[in-house]
Amino acid sequence: MKDVIYLDNASTTPLDGRVLEAMTPYLTTVYGNANSVHSVGRKAVNGLDEARETVAKIIGADFNEVYFTSGGTEGNNLALRGAFFARGDKNKLITSSIEHPSVIETAKALQTLGADVRKVSPNSSGILSISDYLKEGIDDAFIVCMMMANNEIGTFQPVKELATACKGSGALVFTDAVQAMGVTDINVKDLGVDIMTFSAHKFGGPKGVGAVYIKNGSRIAPQITGGHQERLKRGGTSNVAGAVGLATALKLSREDLDKNNEYLKGLRDYFVKGIISETGVAILNGDNNFKLSGNANITFKGVDGESLLYALDLHGVCASLGSACSSGTIEPSYVLKEIGLSDKGAKSTVRFSLSYNNTYEEIDRAIKIIKECVSNLKK
Ligand code: PLP
Repeated sequence: MKDVIYLDNASTTPLDGRVLEAMTPYLTTVYGNANSVHSVGRKAVNGLDEARETVAKIIGADFNEVYFTSGGTEGNNLALRGAFFARGDKNKLITSSIEHPSVIETAKALQTLGADVRKVSPNSSGILSISDYLKEGIDDAFIVCMMMANNEIGTFQPVKELATACKGSGALVFTDAVQAMGVTDINVKDLGVDIMTFSAHKFGGPKGVGAVYIKNGSRIAPQITGGHQERLKRGGTSNVAGAVGLATALKLSREDLDKNNEYLKGLRDYFVKGIISETGVAILNGDNNFKLSGNANITFKGVDGESLLYALDLHGVCASLGSACSSGTIEPSYVLKEIGLSDKGAKSTVRFSLSYNNTYEEIDRAIKIIKECVSNLKK
């Protein structure tokens, strides 16, 4: 789209052309069902196996520890519900108050089914602490959940330290890596987690496909029952093209990862500096040293975030609201409130998420547009 400055990559990313190319045969000529025994089916199985192998190798897992899903939301449901329904005697689910709604709402649903749900809050920089998790009693937990990077303020969380602290407790350690995958080098064995979810559309892959790493031996009850696909963990005809797309996008994301992150961090800091100095009313949320390189979650004091978002859209700048729209009203973001923002502050917040495809020229234009929009809304 001409002249659009897309700064909403945490919502979704454009499909990489090379990913589409890799997927195309599986949407056209290689149309077999991966469960069929004939030659057409076997070609599809080959594509699926190769995709699983690629993903497993990149994240440091075994081939049979990777399960394809329809995305992050399904993966998070499988992790939490699957652990709950296979939990044995333990009944405690420890999570944080800043997880994605697909975790928060699932935990809430499990609470109504009898789970003892504990939520840990972050500090004012948006970082969770291991000691707060330990205080909730890890030995009685069937699962302990900590996202790898927050989707609103971008802060990384100490997942590796949590996994180390949980060793020997018997609790499954689960991380939602939807925002971190594709922009960080993740090795599950090094990280020490039992379950990890991610989603292709956040790193140049197609929408509607994700994967879950489930360490061999972890007790997870299937949540979509039916056929024997995904080694009985997730029934339904395999989305071979999607799996190939995810694997290809993940592989591509690892090329020049450090160089891209360095560029992106520089671009993001330039953007934030420009916004703060040009508008005079901007405050950056979340620890700036320990966050996703493309994230800039900014509160514009005295400016309505929703109005700003619409004004920016009219000028071709795409971003996201720091707060969620539910039932026609804007609810202040629970993540922003958890790090100490008032309702008003949260409603004055916009999330920008840059990618390494953005240029300095675009960012200069965006800063100018944001400055004008903020100044008009202040009048
Ligand atoms: N978890 C996090 C941290 C996310 O940011 C998102 C999507 O924004 C999801 C889960 C859900 O992923 P999906 O869109 O693939 O369902």
